[in-house]
Amino acid sequence: KTTNMHLLIKDVVERFSIPFANRELEVKLDLADDLPLVLVDPDQMVQVMDNIMSNSIKYSNQGGVISVEASLKESDIEIVISDNGIGIPKPDLKHIFKRFYRVDKARSREMGGTGLGLAIAKEIIEAHDGSIRLDSVVGEGTKVFIRLPIIRENRGDEV
Ligand code: ATP
Ligand code: MG
Repeated sequence: KTTNMHLLIKDVVERFSIPFANRELEVKLDLADDLPLVLVDPDQMVQVMDNIMSNSIKYSNQGGVISVEASLKESDIEIVISDNGIGIPKPDLKHIFKRFYRVDKARSREMGGTGLGLAIAKEIIEAHDGSIRLDSVVGEGTKVFIRLPIIRENRGDEV
C-alpha cells in the first residue's frame, strides 16, 4: 500500500503517549514534511516502530528523552530513534538482532519480553529491501537507524 511514513510514525508515537507520561519521558519528534509516499506494508511498519519504541521506553530511565526523526537521505527514508537510557554493552551489540537474544538475563527477566522485538523488526525491514542498525553506549543510550528505500507504485513493472 502507498503509505505516508510521516503520518504513520506520528500515529505510533501518539499511541505511546500514556507510557511516555507514566515514565515521565520526554519525546521529541522531527519528521520531515516532504517525505515521499512509499510502497510498504503499513501494518508491518507499525510493528517495527512499536518494537523499537517499546524498547526505548522499557530501557530508559525515568525522566529520559526519546527522539524520533525521519528524513530523506538520497533515495531512502531514514528513521532514527534515539534514547538516553541504559544502553547495550559492546560485546552484546553483534547479537542484538538474533531471535531470543537478550542482554543480561537478570536485567531482562525483570523487564519482561521474549527477545524477539529487534529480530522481527529486522526481518520486516529487510523484506522491504531496507536496512536496520543499532549504535549504543552503556549508560549513555541507544540509537536505531532504519533505511527504507523509496519504492513507488509500478516498480518492477518495466521490462
Ligand atoms: P521483546 O521485544 O520480545 O518484548 P526484548 O525487548 O528483550 O523482548 P528485543 O526488542 O529484541 O527483545 O531486544 C533485545 C535486547 O536488546 C533486549 O533484551 C535489551 O537487552 C536490548 N535492547 C534493545 N533495545 C534497547 C534499548 N533501546 N536500550 C537498551 N537496551 C536495548
Ligand atoms: Mg523489545
